[in-house]
Amino acid sequence: MKIHKHEVIIVGAGGAGLMAALYASRGGADVAVVSKLYPTRSHTGTAQGGIGAALGNLDEDQPIYHAYDTVKGGDYLADQNAALVLAEGAVEAVIELEHMGLPFDRTPDGRISQRRFGGHTREFGKELVRRACHAADRTGHMILQTLYQNCIKRNVNFFDEFQVVDTIINDGVCVGVVAIQIGTGEFHIFHGKAVMFASGGWGRCWSVSSNAHSMTGDGAAAVLRRGVPLQDMEFFQFHPTGIYKMGILITEGVRGEGGVLINNKGERFMEKYAPSAKDLASRDVVSRAIYDEVKKGNGIKGKDYVYLDVRPETVNRFFAEEGRKERIDAAYVEKKLPDILDFCRTYLGVDPVKEPMPIQPTAHYAMGGIPTNVDAQVVIDENWTVLPGMYAAGETACVSCHGANRLGTNSLVDLIVFGRRGGMHMADYVKGVDWTPLPADAGHEIESEFKRIRSSRGKMKPYQLRAKMQEVMMENVGVYRTEKTMTEAINVLRELRHEFRTNIAIDDQGYKFNTDLMEAWELGNLLELAEVTALSARNRTESRGGHSRDDYPKRDDENWLVHTLVCRAGTDDDPQYTINTAKKVDMSLAETDERFRPKVRAY
Ligand SMILES: Cc1cc2nc3c(=O)[nH]c(=O)nc-3n(C[C@H](O)[C@H](O)[C@H](O)COP(=O)(O)OP(=O)(O)OC[C@H]3O[C@@H](n4cnc5c(N)ncnc54)[C@H](O)[C@@H]3O)c2cc1C
Repeated sequence: MKIHKHEVIIVGAGGAGLMAALYASRGGADVAVVSKLYPTRSHTGTAQGGIGAALGNLDEDQPIYHAYDTVKGGDYLADQNAALVLAEGAVEAVIELEHMGLPFDRTPDGRISQRRFGGHTREFGKELVRRACHAADRTGHMILQTLYQNCIKRNVNFFDEFQVVDTIINDGVCVGVVAIQIGTGEFHIFHGKAVMFASGGWGRCWSVSSNAHSMTGDGAAAVLRRGVPLQDMEFFQFHPTGIYKMGILITEGVRGEGGVLINNKGERFMEKYAPSAKDLASRDVVSRAIYDEVKKGNGIKGKDYVYLDVRPETVNRFFAEEGRKERIDAAYVEKKLPDILDFCRTYLGVDPVKEPMPIQPTAHYAMGGIPTNVDAQVVIDENWTVLPGMYAAGETACVSCHGANRLGTNSLVDLIVFGRRGGMHMADYVKGVDWTPLPADAGHEIESEFKRIRSSRGKMKPYQLRAKMQEVMMENVGVYRTEKTMTEAINVLRELRHEFRTNIAIDDQGYKFNTDLMEAWELGNLLELAEVTALSARNRTESRGGHSRDDYPKRDDENWLVHTLVCRAGTDDDPQYTINTAKKVDMSLAETDERFRPKVRAY
């Protein structure tokens, strides 16, 4: 196998990976970014609505208000020190993005324009605040382009279309990764002093998903197999507004601009569920409300969807009812939401300026993931023990600043704040440590696993197993869950895993761009992550944030202000999972400010 040696190896070229690469290289490290996609095709490029920062350009705002919203939005499971680092770091990081050349929308006097987003308020919940900085509805695209260009400027080494398939740990130190060059099928080893996983989420476990096809959780699954725990996997966010049946995301920015949710009776139903925040209540609340409306028979045409209405006449009517002075017109909607209008016109034949959009909740964002501290170092137990040389940032990591439910615009903040901190930390770390050698058999195990998959001549195609997994996850481990539905899901997932191990069919025997083979391997990751999601969810006998149980509808602060750590032992054929709930949530802000103490749920 070809061996590449760079001090810092970063897996993934989304916002988190690129920000870390930029800062590690500025800190003097020799950096390689290994990415299965061409960097600017990463999912960060699809982020629409905005990036939150308490700049206070349009309304009075402060980082502490942002931290409060993050903790409350996360239903008090967020580590409060991490939420504060996020909110404070956001201001500096956004201004820095601006200075790097990111073309934000502007206020009339030339400052960065900001819009409202769900759950973002001022003065500890007093009223909604304009905090989301945006570049039309293409904020993520602009972040990715800006960071990529700056990485190129700094001569960061890019290995594009190399898919990482295993982690190498030697003597308790992370020393590298094994990757397959997709274009040739060859195995390569990347040997580093520090390795960061910034490989994104796993929304493809569910059938209706806003996530790109590439979101298969490769990094999280690869470290889980090597004994690193995953944290809070039961918390997966369903975004309330995906295009009906397709899952394609309609940004919360639509509601931030005044759009409203309407049922088949023409009612703005969020008034009943969240009388003050209404359509801009946090995502878990709105997704549940849509499910409840559908259950009551209030779905449009009796089906399982509702309308999202941003027609100027509708928006202006509700603005007037609420005593708000602003008014919008078609030109404003075209300017602020060009991509959304384009998606709806292209995929649905619906023109949102003239008609409401049919929407349903869509699997969107992993709150859980690889546990880290605020410097992006991976921690492996309840005592915050660091695994030397291993880092994680972005959606694949769990800092945990989002707790049980992430607020809109806070993922992009997470990428740049913790990507940057991780990059700086790695640059320092690699200066102070010697190279740990690679183990003699590095890469052998995963090479034989690929031989096994390649030679599988069973009956099931990987896509058939994937469709079954996605359906069972959507039905049984979706917005609402119970002991019964989750146990059923676990049993089905075990059967699917057995099929995957013994009965799949790989047709393509080539080496160049063998997507048949790579998709089969990705399915293995999804099956593994689906199972630990269901196991973690069944274990948590309460409802909190994105985890809603019909059989345990109440939040239980006495017993459950703890993180879930799920670990894997055993073999690929018979994995043994253990769940540990000894890691307590950091409550440091609550110690001095009672507003940060968990209160009765406000909704
Ligand atoms: C449609 C949509 C809209 C969104 N809108 C917003 C928004 O407005 N505001 C907000 O805050 N958040 C938003 N989010 C969430 C946010 O965009 C993501 O959580 C975030 O961009 C993830 O960034 P990341 O850097 O962690 O990973 P990604 O951007 O997903 O990148 C993952 C990277 O890892 C690489 N990779 C994966 N597996 C491997 C492997 N095996 N080997 C090598 N490389 C690998 C990929 O090539 C890619 O470069 C949105 C998400 C979606 C899906």
